[in-house]
Amino acid sequence: MQGSRGREIRIKADEFREKCKVSRYGIVNLFKDCERQGYKVLRYPLGEAADLGFTLKKDNDVVIFTNTCSRLSREIFTLAHEIGHVILHGEEGLPFIDDKITISGRSTDEKEQEANYFAACLLMPADEVERFLDLKITSFLEQRLSAMDIARIMSEFNVSFDMALYRLENLGKINEGERLMLNSEKNLKRVGNLLKSVGGNSRLNVVTNDIDIPYEYLDYVIYNYNHNAIPKDTLERVLECYQLSLEDVSDRLVNHFGNEEDDDDSDDMIGDLTE
Ligand SMILES: [Zn+2]
Repeated sequence: MQGSRGREIRIKADEFREKCKVSRYGIVNLFKDCERQGYKVLRYPLGEAADLGFTLKKDNDVVIFTNTCSRLSREIFTLAHEIGHVILHGEEGLPFIDDKITISGRSTDEKEQEANYFAACLLMPADEVERFLDLKITSFLEQRLSAMDIARIMSEFNVSFDMALYRLENLGKINEGERLMLNSEKNLKRVGNLLKSVGGNSRLNVVTNDIDIPYEYLDYVIYNYNHNAIPKDTLERVLECYQLSLEDVSDRLVNHFGNEEDDDDSDDMIGDLTE
């Protein structure tokens, strides 16, 4: 990535960050910030082997999906990466589908590298990292960072242990040898324990399997069902995502329990969420 492009990405990440709620150093809840920006964010446990996330444009909406079968800190990075695609590569350039390769330092694709850089700058901007090390890590200048310090950084910036290490290395705060040592310390002590020992946010290290789908999607699906655009079993599958059954929404269904003959007005206002 050329120097001028890097600067452009830092500026865009900074602009987006200004719209986010930030605690002292880190963004508090990037999912909520996306919703405030008008993005439709869907979180669903697609499975460990499935893609980590994607972003696409549907009608006038920007839709961002993240797989909740990864650790929360990882999922937050995926979200930041997808925001990068939206901001850097334009809504016209969507969709992007991301997996463990595209969301990693190993990707050789220029757009993927840019989205990863955007995510790093959004979650851990250089000046905030500097300030945190200066004010919160008392021994930073005298001695090396410990794995507990990394857990503190994780917790403040809502990032994974590995992400914190890579970012610190890229910012020249640790060298490669230190990163490798901190990584083996992590493997020995385990991230969950490190987070507990610094009173950090243990949830970051947990696979949440959360289901979080905007309620308006349920409205779309019921609308389509009422207009015979989707069959009953599709409606049932979607309702399951909300932990609802047909009985729970029966008062909103026109063709109660599948009389599918009387209305053939299947305008395609909305597609099938489960396609
Ligand atoms: Zn990507």
